[in-house]
Amino acid sequence: MAVKRRSDSKLDTSERGLVAAIRKRALGQKARGILHLGIGDDCAVLRPQPGRDLTITTDMSLEGVHFRRDWHPPDSVGHRCLARGLSDLAAMGARPEAAFLSLAMPANLTGAWMDGFFEGFFRLAKEAGVALAGGDLAKASQVTADIVLVGSVPKGKALLRSKARAGDVIYVTGTLGGSAAGLAALAKGRKVVESANPQLYPQPRLVAGHKLLRLATAAIDVSDGLSTDLNHLCEESGLGAEIDLEDLPVDARATLEQALHGGEDYELLFTAAPRTPVPAELGGVAVHAIGQMTKRGRGARMVLVDGRKRIGLKAGGWEHFGS
Ligand SMILES: [Mg+2]
Repeated sequence: MAVKRRSDSKLDTSERGLVAAIRKRALGQKARGILHLGIGDDCAVLRPQPGRDLTITTDMSLEGVHFRRDWHPPDSVGHRCLARGLSDLAAMGARPEAAFLSLAMPANLTGAWMDGFFEGFFRLAKEAGVALAGGDLAKASQVTADIVLVGSVPKGKALLRSKARAGDVIYVTGTLGGSAAGLAALAKGRKVVESANPQLYPQPRLVAGHKLLRLATAAIDVSDGLSTDLNHLCEESGLGAEIDLEDLPVDARATLEQALHGGEDYELLFTAAPRTPVPAELGGVAVHAIGQMTKRGRGARMVLVDGRKRIGLKAGGWEHFGS
């Protein structure tokens, strides 16, 4: 079956039981879309539909790098692991089809911690309509959760980073900086209502992404921070960008630095032709126009316009003009 047992790195003697428990939860999910056979054989079987392309993304969640067990509750770790992959699908306008999870952890976490992890994982999987179709379990000194997400889009229609045009309006969904502010609060040991901390349970914008198929010229998800992800979009499209400070939807808890350079908001950053009517809300999430794509000039590739001041922006920070 697609959830394998490893004799060389067994979690413990009850690994068979662990796999059976995960399988039971996974089978509780409705099979849909192209997933023909999920957990239970050597491989999962996907049956792609004619007229659709497959989109595939992988993401690793490493303890101490992407999360800390003393800051992130186990269901948050499971949620975030899946949310990262789903957000990449959303950025391509893709529909989630199947998830594959390889999970390594210390043997003493296979009880309550792992239960919590899958609680968060399957809660989001159900909301997103995606089935866990396979994976692997292994013992390790720290938690590693490696997710593979398979999605699909109408043939040739996937939203790319490279298709923005000069003059396109730049938009972002939701607000920015909330996740970085939430992380800073966790680091300071501040009590924040967990469900209200966007660092812990970010929502992948799948519905908005799907609607963008008919609106956007290019898209990316904000995983590394607006300045970094906008820079990817600029690089791939061979363009520059101007962002208007006044129009930035900064999360009420966040600083401007966190909104510009903090990561893990998992909002969608996209461009659309000026004549395209983009609604103020997509899939229940507010959409804000924040600037426009420009021809690549000699100055900074990205510029933050603050009234009359123009400040050079670079991925993760600031840039002096002319450099
Ligand atoms: Mg991404």
